[in-house]
Amino acid sequence: MADTLPIGTQLRIVTPEREVVEGEISEVSIPGKGGYLGVLPGHAPLLTELQPGDLTYRQDGLDFHVAIHCGFAEVLPDRVIILADAAERAEEIDVERAERARRRAEERLKQPSESEEEMREAREALRRAICRLETARHAKA
Ligand code: ATP
Repeated sequence: MADTLPIGTQLRIVTPEREVVEGEISEVSIPGKGGYLGVLPGHAPLLTELQPGDLTYRQDGLDFHVAIHCGFAEVLPDRVIILADAAERAEEIDVERAERARRRAEERLKQPSESEEEMREAREALRRAICRLETARHAKA
């Protein structure tokens, strides 16, 4: 057996505003455009586009969740870098705000007079809100 297997993977999640996560993890599941992508140490390099979803990583035997909203992931054998438009750790999510955003988006989608562009924006806002609500369910007390 090779004696050079990496013991862990360095995960970094950044947005234009801030660094959301930085640390060594043993496993990560990334919401990629083509579906969820599971990454273990030593994974083959790849670049993938993200879609809004719940990113999960395992650190010190515990699972952590982050809501991710579009961007890119670069996977290297010893590192995973996520560049996201926005991202929030489960514990940071303001559930009432996300509920309000979901209701607002649903109301907008019920208005048949709105333009296609406005409809697209409302659908994306709805997706972000649902994604945040899903991730927030995993918040640690
Ligand atoms: P809202 O209408 O509530 O602002 P949004 O989907 O339009 O929601 P974004 O434009 O995606 O919000 O995000 C703007 C900033 O606010 C980002 O920094 C994002 O991380 C943060 N953010 C948005 N919603 C929440 C939330 N429910 N809890 C915590 N942070 C949030």
